[in-house]
Amino acid sequence: MEHIKVLIIGSGPAGFTAAIYTARANLQPVLYEGIEPGGQLTTTTEIENFPGYPEGVDGNQMMADLRRQAERFGTDIRSGQITRIDLSKRPFHVTVDGTTELEAEAVIVATGASAKYLGLPSETKFRGQGVSACATCDGFFYRKKDVAVVGGGDTACEEATYLASLCRKVYMIVRKPYLRASKAMQERVFRTGNIEVLFEHNTVEVLGDDSGVTGALLRRTDGEERTIEISGFFLAIGHHPNTELFAGQLDLDAEGYIRTEPGTSKTSIEGLFAAGDVKDPHYRQAITAAGSGCIAALDCERFLLK
Ligand code: NDP
Repeated sequence: MEHIKVLIIGSGPAGFTAAIYTARANLQPVLYEGIEPGGQLTTTTEIENFPGYPEGVDGNQMMADLRRQAERFGTDIRSGQITRIDLSKRPFHVTVDGTTELEAEAVIVATGASAKYLGLPSETKFRGQGVSACATCDGFFYRKKDVAVVGGGDTACEEATYLASLCRKVYMIVRKPYLRASKAMQERVFRTGNIEVLFEHNTVEVLGDDSGVTGALLRRTDGEERTIEISGFFLAIGHHPNTELFAGQLDLDAEGYIRTEPGTSKTSIEGLFAAGDVKDPHYRQAITAAGSGCIAALDCERFLLK
């Protein structure tokens, strides 16, 4: 069975940064890319807030550059998904794609998080054709059009105000009679003239035709239904961390995020480190993920030296 020193699971900014650091430390990391090579940033267009890119950078380009940088120092980047991991003893026993077995002395988990969807068949049908979970990525395509944002948290408010600066009208579809977002975010929403908040509304179906989304059928809590005409339907109902692989073996919080020792990447299992969105329900930025990938690599290096 193949024996590796450092296994990195995930290929977003956290995984690749961990790879760059561990490769430069001569730890011969092996990185498995997972089902979405490059991670969430590959669904973004322009990244304007990553320091060092005064003109901004395309999300796919940034991930391609990070990959190249990790390769340059000798990271063994492989396509494939870790389908099982046994954390009961070290070295950790790992299965890739249900078939290949290997063991790893240390593991850095950087599996990220995924946007939540409502689970409607019509939502799946129009994904990429008007249905999106990232307003900052796709809002541009809906300039001067009418759109809707589902959710009442900080993300939904942030996305709605962002879209309001581009679109003609933004509906917020909120299932409760109030917004969960912080007061400051709520005030921003209420101050924005072209946002209409539809409290106590749920989406019954996303409507559309060959051209993509054309509307949404909504139902108020009292049962009354109405249709809104929109070209874009944005989900902002939270994210879920990709930690199914570790359930029952690792200390996770109530939402499934990996718990780490404050200020470190150390998890409840010695030799297993976590970085990026999989352990971060709050900041979820490319730069914070990259920073935590660096922390995980340094923690891992110290662990292996012991
Ligand atoms: P939240 O979990 O805070 O909010 C999710 C929202 O989606 C809630 O309004 C929730 O409704 C709604 N929702 C969930 N499931 C459904 C569903 N099936 N149908 C309809 N509505 C649904 O997630 P966020 O992504 O907004 O925020 C995550 C964290 O990130 C928070 O801690 C937030 O404060 C932070 N954040 C901070 C920002 C900032 O400070 N600038 C920006 C963005 C995020 P309900 O209230 O009824 O449960």
